[in-house]
Amino acid sequence: MVSLQHVDKHFGDLHVLRDINLDIPAGQVVVLLGPSGSGKSTLCRTINRLEPIDSGEIYLDGHLLPEEGRDLAALRAEVGMVFQSFNLFAHKTILENVTLAPIKVRKKSKAQAEAKAMELLERVGVAAQRDKYPAQLSGGQQQRVAIARSLAMEPRVMLFDEPTSALDPEMVNEVLDVMVSLAHEGMTMVVVTHEMGFARKAADRVIFMADGAIVEDADPDTFFTSPDSDRARDFLSKIL
Ligand code: ADP
Ligand code: MG
Repeated sequence: MVSLQHVDKHFGDLHVLRDINLDIPAGQVVVLLGPSGSGKSTLCRTINRLEPIDSGEIYLDGHLLPEEGRDLAALRAEVGMVFQSFNLFAHKTILENVTLAPIKVRKKSKAQAEAKAMELLERVGVAAQRDKYPAQLSGGQQQRVAIARSLAMEPRVMLFDEPTSALDPEMVNEVLDVMVSLAHEGMTMVVVTHEMGFARKAADRVIFMADGAIVEDADPDTFFTSPDSDRARDFLSKIL
């Protein structure tokens, strides 16, 4: 579903992605771990080409992602992304937040888009908030709306970059529960998170990065019980 081949990227002198090779089959849930600054966010952002790369190729469902233009926009619409900050449109209602892109980009009718949006808002447990504005919701509710908004585009892949890091602790699980159910329904997912409970419960695969390179690629059991590298052991000793 997603394939990165020999992806390299610098920010000035900083070699932020080093020869990244990664194939993610459809339905796989990948948890991306690594110390702060190791390149996790940059890698997520390159997957839908929010970040230009210096060299290498990125394929989405077998299609080479072009560097720009209409084809890029079309392919990018297949990749949903949820960030740490919720990024909802502050001056739009919850329902409008979820229907906007399907109407504009997918050319759905308002009625169609609203029906789908309500189904998704039900699913993430915030349907009753449909006519409120983002600021009237809790952080956990806003993040669930952000997930519903991404899903409304019917993406093939979902990227999550520390989706619960900005939340109060009591709201973390309500967001993780939505992600776990999405994982169990077969969504292809790449998730950057410090929530090891999620990794153990939902991940098919753990990728550990350090200094812009993939250092380990293992199933969660293997990674958590017997990591190969000193870097990973050191990382785990700090977070577990
Ligand atoms: P992570 O998400 O693993 O914490 P990032 O991908 O955000 O790491 O960042 C990797 C490295 O690239 C860090 O050293 C960071 O400071 C640097 N970096 C990230 N974005 C930029 C940017 N736009 N310009 C310059 N350096 C950046
Ligand atoms: Mg990051």
